Amino acid sequence: MSEAPFARVALIGIGLIGSSLAHNIRAHRLADHIAITTRRAETLARAAELGLGDSYHLDAAEAVRGADLVILCVPVGSCGAVSKEIAAALEPGAIVSDVGSVKGSVIQQMQPNLPAHIHFVPAHPIAGTEQSGPDAGFRELFENRWCILTPVEGTDPQAVERLKRFWEGCGSNVEVMTAEHHDLVLAIVSHVPHLIAYNIVGTAADLETVTQSEVVKFSASGFRDFTRIAASDPTMWRDVFLHNREAVLEMLARFSEDLATLQRAIRWGDGDTLFELFTRTRAIRRGIVEAGQDTAQPDFGREHGRGPKDET
Ligand code: NAP
Repeated sequence: MSEAPFARVALIGIGLIGSSLAHNIRAHRLADHIAITTRRAETLARAAELGLGDSYHLDAAEAVRGADLVILCVPVGSCGAVSKEIAAALEPGAIVSDVGSVKGSVIQQMQPNLPAHIHFVPAHPIAGTEQSGPDAGFRELFENRWCILTPVEGTDPQAVERLKRFWEGCGSNVEVMTAEHHDLVLAIVSHVPHLIAYNIVGTAADLETVTQSEVVKFSASGFRDFTRIAASDPTMWRDVFLHNREAVLEMLARFSEDLATLQRAIRWGDGDTLFELFTRTRAIRRGIVEAGQDTAQPDFGREHGRGPKDET
């Protein structure tokens, strides 16, 4: 008799998040069998080369057959189509989940396609990097990071509890909230910051008075840190903005108002307003470090003097 919490986990999509899950399921013995499926044959072959799973399938329905846990690890905009593909093959009692960065839209897309005999528990690990694909995953990705579950009303609490334990097994701390609240919170902590990064890097790239080579050469003065975020996967992030439209627009409106206040302070030489804000924001950074969500080392622990010269 097996002691693993799940007999067969099907991972649909094997990019950064899917492959990081595969590493965790293997390392922490969270399932006896890992079935992997993805859209492109090249990606599936690479997953097999890396030894991420126990079986590999180009047909998603075949991968989910017999699985007691199914996790969609595909871009948010693909969740509806994938749920249609797998619906008829899902085992009664299986937990169906996802890792999408937007929750309301994923629920709207998937729920109508899913049979009544499964437990649908959407999830979102708040952990990532700017890398994508099956090579990008690593076991420590979810360690001490939050994972948010957004079960729909009427979900069996035991299924929620089982998925909670699964994510805890990957090293995460788990919180449960509504999809609507999740989408608002994530709009301000993740989606708007990504939009700002994409925008500032785009603006710098389009400048005529400052050359591209100057932007690159002097990037260590701040710009460089935005470029990491702006290097994130274009498909994933296009889908995030298209599927969390309302919450992003609401947070963006607040952001624009506050930006106008700063603009006015600069125009009128109002140093107090600037100083007061910059003092408050420093405290937020300290809070993030104290909560163990980032390193306390200066400059994110970059090893100065080893790589290319840093300018300040
Ligand atoms: P990724 O590295 O780009 O991997 C995406 C995977 O989905 C690939 O295996 C890709 O397969 C597959 N895929 C794409 N479109 C598909 C479709 N229409 N049907 C079936 N498979 C499809 O992406 P990721 O970073 O792992 O992100 C996956 C999900 O996690 C997204 O919903 C994202 O919102 C969420 N998420 C991401 C992060 C992050 O920082 N990256 C953090 C938390 C949550 P092929 O190569 O075969 O096309």
